[in-house]
Amino acid sequence: MSHNGRRIALTLVLALASQLLGCRQLGLGVKYFLTPCAGNGPERNADFDLKLPPLDLDAFYAELRGLQANFEFEELGRIRYQGRDDPQYWIRRPAPEGAPRMLIVAGVHGDERAALLAIPRLLAELADESPTRERASSPSWDLSVLVPANPVGAAHTSRYNGTGCDLNRDFGSFANPEARAVRNVVERLDPDLVIAPHEGPQDGFFLIATADADPELARRAVAAVAAAGIPLARKSFLGLGLGSPGLSLEGPTIAAGKRALGLGSLGTYMESLGVGTFTTESSWDSEDFEARIDSHVIAIRAVLDSAPPGVSSGTGD
Ligand SMILES: [Zn+2]
Repeated sequence: MSHNGRRIALTLVLALASQLLGCRQLGLGVKYFLTPCAGNGPERNADFDLKLPPLDLDAFYAELRGLQANFEFEELGRIRYQGRDDPQYWIRRPAPEGAPRMLIVAGVHGDERAALLAIPRLLAELADESPTRERASSPSWDLSVLVPANPVGAAHTSRYNGTGCDLNRDFGSFANPEARAVRNVVERLDPDLVIAPHEGPQDGFFLIATADADPELARRAVAAVAAAGIPLARKSFLGLGLGSPGLSLEGPTIAAGKRALGLGSLGTYMESLGVGTFTTESSWDSEDFEARIDSHVIAIRAVLDSAPPGVSSGTGD
């Protein structure tokens, strides 16, 4: 059976079971994990009460464009929907030859605003640090950001795109132009690590590292968030206890399960290429918008400031 066939079969079984049992959790599991296009267009989330930081999307784009003096800038394409025509940008800070490449894919779910708002904040911080000669010669990352991954979702405060699809279930079939834009950058950049900022209903910040990602780097990122006084989640968005607060390390079993399911998430796509993914997750239940936005910035900076895997840390910079 194809991945799609298996997913459809499993969806039917779970949908039937959730009907019989009247189980909300199971029903939500089917909707959020196994249904690629559960929306009728870019609708708002009726299952959860997301606390929304203010976002003026046009000001957001203007802020990003204001960084063009400090970064390489490419418009990957534009997504038209209901009178709007929004860009997807590829913003890049290249590093010396041989530096590993990090790709941040931000805003796959347009209603997870802290994940979007973290990007101009991160880039502004990096732009303010004029790289010295010493720093430029020390090990560092070639940094790329694709933002926003889902412009229509961002404009309509929705998890979905204009056709009601969850892009994080489309990185297997690439039926949507937004997912193809991500694939375009992945193929051209050939990243060594992908970071995907998201938000969810869990009780604090956590980071999910796929089987191919470096667990030590993941631990450092979580430790940096904790050191800033930001609460770490004790349970994942599935309500499962995390072995270590704020950290979920996916072993080969989970990777194989997701592959078998044909989940079509960004993480499974990257695993198919042998590339690790960190998903950073802040809590959309929290009214502390600053901490939610900062948690992503801090986690990403902790990775950027670490000597990348395979590069011995120098004598400091
Ligand atoms: Zn998300």
